[in-house]
Amino acid sequence: MATIKLEIVSPDKVVYSADISMLIVRSTGGELGILPKHAPLVTGLVPHAMRVRLGADRDEQLIAVAGGFMEVTPDKITVLATAAEQPIDIDINRAKDAMARAKERLALLHQGAPEAKNIDVERAQLAMQRAMARLRATKTEFQE
Ligand code: ATP
Repeated sequence: MATIKLEIVSPDKVVYSADISMLIVRSTGGELGILPKHAPLVTGLVPHAMRVRLGADRDEQLIAVAGGFMEVTPDKITVLATAAEQPIDIDINRAKDAMARAKERLALLHQGAPEAKNIDVERAQLAMQRAMARLRATKTEFQE
C-alpha cells in the first residue's frame, strides 16, 4: 500500500508523525484529500478536526488543528499548526467552556447589547471554531 509521511508540528512539539494512506483537511480554499504522490502544494488551514487514514480501510483518526499552514510534497505532508491536539490530550470541559464563552459573545453582538461594543466578532468566531474542532475530534456532542 502506498503511504505518505505526515508530520504535524505545533509551536512547542511534534504532535503527530506517521506514515499514512490519506489525510483529509479543511484548507482556506475548502476540503482537500491528500494521497501519496500528491502534487506540491502550500495552503492555509482553518480550525477543524483533521481526518487521518492509516490503512486501506476507511478507519480514521481525528486530530484537532486550530489553524496554520500545510505543505505537501509527493512523499511528505507537513502541518505547521498554531495549536494541534490528539483526542487523548484534549480537555473536553475546557473546550466546552471556550465554546460557551464564544457563543455568549456572539449572542451579545447579535442582540446589539451595549457591552458588545468591544467584542471582536472574528476573534469570537475563530474561538468557537477551535472549540468545535476539539469537540469533534473527541466525538463530543454539542449544539452549534
Ligand atoms: P482556551 O480559551 O480554552 O485557551 P483557545 O482556543 O483560545 O482555548 P488556543 O489558543 O487554540 O486555545 O491554544 C492555546 C494552547 O492551549 C495550545 O497549546 C492548545 O494546544 C491548548 N489547548 C487549548 N484548548 C485545549 C483543550 N480543550 N484541551 C487541551 N489543550 C488545549
